[in-house]
Amino acid sequence: MADLASMSASASAGDPAVRQLIEWFARDGTDFPWRRTRDRYAILVAEVQLQSTQVARVVPYFDAWMERWPTACDLAQASLGEVLGAWQGLGYPRRARNLHRAARRICDVGWPDADRLTELPGVGPYTAAAIRCFADGAAVLPADINVMRVLSRRFPDGWPGTPDGHGWAVGQAFMDLGREWCTARAPRCDEGCPLREGCAAADEGRVLEMTPTRRSQSRFAGSLRQRRGVLMRELTTLGTVAIDRDPGAAATLIADGLARAADDHLCLPSD
Ligand code: SF4
Repeated sequence: MADLASMSASASAGDPAVRQLIEWFARDGTDFPWRRTRDRYAILVAEVQLQSTQVARVVPYFDAWMERWPTACDLAQASLGEVLGAWQGLGYPRRARNLHRAARRICDVGWPDADRLTELPGVGPYTAAAIRCFADGAAVLPADINVMRVLSRRFPDGWPGTPDGHGWAVGQAFMDLGREWCTARAPRCDEGCPLREGCAAADEGRVLEMTPTRRSQSRFAGSLRQRRGVLMRELTTLGTVAIDRDPGAAATLIADGLARAADDHLCLPSD
């Protein structure tokens, strides 16, 4: 992968574990399509799609999305109905609506300043940090639950600092490490974890104890989220669905701007 291969494989200064992390990523980092670009819009698309969806499922959606709408202005010109249709299967369609709104804002008035990215619809502190790190190369760690877990276990005294020019690599390395090695329930400490050397949590057998707790997810089966998902799937497939199919779920989709009522039927938004 060009970006990994061209990256300096050795950080000139800093903590040994940070250097190991950077060197390991340069050698073994995973190739994802969003790692071949520094385009802010592409990073925004990837990050929004990756929220709450597994990385392997996102790859074909990301590729298809970028082919269909390669710029924010291309996406801005699409109707919300088209956008929701392309999103079908990723779940949480509010993300698609917000991405569409963000694209329209970016196309109209440009990107906000780096410290005001959270003004974009659907962009919270994590996604703003991801854009700063993965598009701008800033030494900002996008701290999702995976990154927080690695930090808690491997750097309990605090992050020692990102060497100059390595913000992107460090951020991406944390993503790979948290997803493949330092996982929540089955950390692979002694199966080749690149940060095993000097890991006090592993040495002391306290890895799970040093894991931040996560809010338990409410049951999905039978939930409003599941019912909304069923209705959205039918809507994007069929184009219209009778509201009395599930009036409660239909009302929430209308309230969220993800569907509109036409007599006794739901339709996709037309704007
Ligand atoms: S050795 Fe274990 S706890 Fe330490 S960073 Fe690696 S996987 Fe995580």
